[in-house]
Order: sequence, then structure tokens, then C-alpha cells
Amino acid sequence: MGDRERNKKRLLELLQAAGTGNTHCADCGAADPDWASYKLGIFICLHCSGVHRNFPDVSKVKSVRLDFWDDSMVEFMTSNGNLNVKAKFEARVPAFYYVPQASDCLVLKEQWIRAKYERQEFIAHEKAVSPPGDREVFLWKRGRDNAQFLRRRFVLLAREGLLKYYTKEEGKTPKAVIHIKDLNATFQTEKIGHPHGLQITYRREGRIRNLFVYHDSGKEIVDWFNALRAARLQYLKLAFPDLPESELVPLITRNYLKQGFMEKTGPKQREPFKKRWFALDALERRLLYYKNPLDAFEQGQVFLGSQEQGYEVCEDLPKGIRGNRWKAGLTVITPERKFIFTCPSEKEQQEWLESLRDVLSSPLSPLNLLTAPAESGCGLR
Ligand SMILES: [Zn+2]
Repeated sequence: MGDRERNKKRLLELLQAAGTGNTHCADCGAADPDWASYKLGIFICLHCSGVHRNFPDVSKVKSVRLDFWDDSMVEFMTSNGNLNVKAKFEARVPAFYYVPQASDCLVLKEQWIRAKYERQEFIAHEKAVSPPGDREVFLWKRGRDNAQFLRRRFVLLAREGLLKYYTKEEGKTPKAVIHIKDLNATFQTEKIGHPHGLQITYRREGRIRNLFVYHDSGKEIVDWFNALRAARLQYLKLAFPDLPESELVPLITRNYLKQGFMEKTGPKQREPFKKRWFALDALERRLLYYKNPLDAFEQGQVFLGSQEQGYEVCEDLPKGIRGNRWKAGLTVITPERKFIFTCPSEKEQQEWLESLRDVLSSPLSPLNLLTAPAESGCGLR
């Protein structure tokens, strides 16, 4: 066996080696990475390797399978590896910081990778992280009633637990004052149609208001997102003083468990089926629906209690009911009524069923006890 083959075999064994962390991408956790940074000594996935290519002073990448590796490189990979290198570069990741996963959008991964290795924000000897402070940023915000994005000033007052935004640059009166306790933020790049697109939501008079924003700089939008998260964690610590931080972190912000178009009918089940955009907020146990994906407010919402409370989801439609265009369907049963939905494909139907079952079978979280509606049939039409 030549050097080339022998070294490739050694690397492939190293990828599987127990206790190294090499079985998953060092940056996003994707399984079976087959790229590596031979300057940092980590194994990464193809997507993350694309980010690493952008700062060759810090990182240099090669394919494990396709590129040539000499002995010294393989030895360097052996003495480093994902867990060892993480211990250095992730020594002090703040609890509020959003650590992206394989399914997250590129801007989150890119800024995480840059923060880690290029800016070295999380290594142990860095200066102490200051507590979340006030922050001001100009964001492009989608108009409520048109698709135009306009520059708006956003001010985060972390200690007061408030987020304000202003339509006038020097204006004194905010357009909205948002309580951090009612706030969520989730990157929605596809829906918004911008690689840095962020959806900010908050509760207003029983409904959920959506703001769609972006910043031209990936660093600015991710920093802003993490500033909102820092303020949220601070609020959660005050609201739930008895819960450990590890239980609060999943409550800081949340992504939708599933989104997409379905058709629904009204409470009599004889009304015509109408196409709506649905978003499933698992943590708040709500299925929200909209006329259009970028609407400012939902048209209605279905609260999803637990199975013990009589909530259920089943495959298919009740007998005698047929959808408009779509055949695959599902029924959500709540103590008040049955909701009938049709899905554009069987694949979508199965994904919705799985996601809804996930929510119904999970116990109520501390947040639900704060926010569950007194009458669970709120906002239906
Ligand atoms: Zn990755």
C-alpha cells in the first residue's frame, strides 16, 4: 500500500475513533463529516468546509477521500481531533449564544464558525463577557401592508426587558414597544427571501405579530439575534428562579417545528377548503395559520394541549369529507371541535402528522403554564 492509500485509511479510521468527536462535524454536528481543516485539526462537513475556505489565514481544508494527505498532516489530525479542538475554541460559549445545527441556515453557521476560529470569541483567556446591555441597530423591515423593506431603528433595553422600534431615525415615539417576555426570533431566510432574514414575533392582544427584518451584514444580524437571546435568558432567569439554566436555554428562542401550506375548512366542515400557510410552534403548542406566509398577523390559531387533555391527531379525513384539490388529509381533534386539513402531498401529510404527534405527546412546558389560553378555543374562525 502506498503512502496515499495508507494515510487515507488512517484518516477514515480516525473519523470512526471513539472518544474523538470526529463522527460528527465539529461546527454543525452533521453526521459523517468527510472534510477536514488540516490547520485546525478538525473534521467538518462539506457545507462548513465552504465557510472555512473564506479565511485561509486561520483554516485550510481538504477532502478526506479525494485529497492527498502526507504523514505529518495525518499525525496532526490524530493529536488534535474534534473534541480536543472544541475544548479550546468553545471553552466559554455564553449560555444564550445560539449554537447552530446542521439544519440551520448558512448565516448562523458562518457566524458561529467565524466567531469561534477567526474572532476567537470563546477561548478561555478572552476578556470576561459583559452582561447583556442596551443595543441599537438599523434593520430593513418589511412593511406591514406591502412587500417593501424600509430602514427602521431598533433599540433593545435589556435591563428594562423591552424592545422598541422607530419609524423615524431621530424619532422619540416608538412605533412599537415589545416586552422581551413575549418575544421570539427565528431565522426564516427562505420565507423572507433574504439570506439574513429574521422573523421577530411578539404577542399583541391575544394574537402574534410578525416582523420580518434583515441586515446587510451577516455578523450584525447574528449579533442582534444573540443580543435578543441574552435579554430573553435574563428575563427567564427572573421568571423561573428555581429552574436550572440548562432547562431555560431551550426556551430562549424557538424555531417552528414545521411550516407549509395546507387547506382547511370551517367549523361546519361543509365550507369550501381554503389554502392557508401553517406554522407549528411546538413550545407554545400552537398551530398558527395565515392567508400568506409573510402576513403581519395570523388568521387563527389552534391550541394543542396534551393527549391526556383529549387532544388527538389522526390520519385521513372523516368519512364523507373530501378536500378541494388535495387528497392526503389529517384531522386534529380538540375538546371543542375537529379541524380538517388537506396536504399537497403524502410526504407533507406524514411530516405534519409526525410533528403534531410530537407536540401532543410532549408534556406542558413551564412556558405553556404562563401562556396557555384560559379558553383554548381562542382566535378560531
Ligand atoms: Zn458542518
